Amino acid sequence: RFITLEGGEGVGKSTNMQYVVAWLEAQGIEVVATREPGGTPRAEAMRQLLLDPAPDEWLHTDAELLLMFAARAQHLAEKILPALARGAWVVCDRFTDATYAYQGGGRGIPAERIEALEAFVQKGLTPDLTLLLDMPPSAAKQRLESRLRDQHTTRDRFEQEQTAFFQAVRDAYRARAAQSPERFALINADQSLAAVQSDIRDTLAGRATL
Ligand code: C5P
Repeated sequence: RFITLEGGEGVGKSTNMQYVVAWLEAQGIEVVATREPGGTPRAEAMRQLLLDPAPDEWLHTDAELLLMFAARAQHLAEKILPALARGAWVVCDRFTDATYAYQGGGRGIPAERIEALEAFVQKGLTPDLTLLLDMPPSAAKQRLESRLRDQHTTRDRFEQEQTAFFQAVRDAYRARAAQSPERFALINADQSLAAVQSDIRDTLAGRATL
């Protein structure tokens, strides 16, 4: 089975990813935890190209889109498909819904172009379940800022991107969820961690056989 976690910046994706993996493993399931963009050495190198441009460097949106799918092709062939083939469950931190949200909603690439690449690279493979951690970007920003202060780090996409970008990302994610309600579980991330994890647990238990 193939489970993906999605959501904007600062919604608690990493923490809840660990929770999902731990919960499934406690049920005796073999889990392969991975992430996108990345997941294998080659695909992680492509992630570097995507996320670490020098300050004066500009990545064309088409190049960004193609690199995302190049990394995904490598990740699928090398890690996701072999794991699914031997019966393991794959839990992936971001997948193609992120491309629709960021490159589609955020950067304005038409959905048809993403669909064409999705068909080419994935050949019909879609997640069995997608947990969408949803909260307003303004609340997520506050969380992220307090975390960044705690960690004394300067990595902050909110400094580079306008709030409108993150609103568009959220809107696109929610539209995706509305289009495929049988695949998506919309989780309200704007509540205590215990409440979020309780909702995730209920979702996983309710779809244990998926
Ligand atoms: O999930 P994670 O926080 O590791 O993602 C790293 C960055 O990659 C995020 O800032 C996200 O905005 C960006 N990203 C993107 N397009 C995607 C996936 C991730 O811009 N399709």
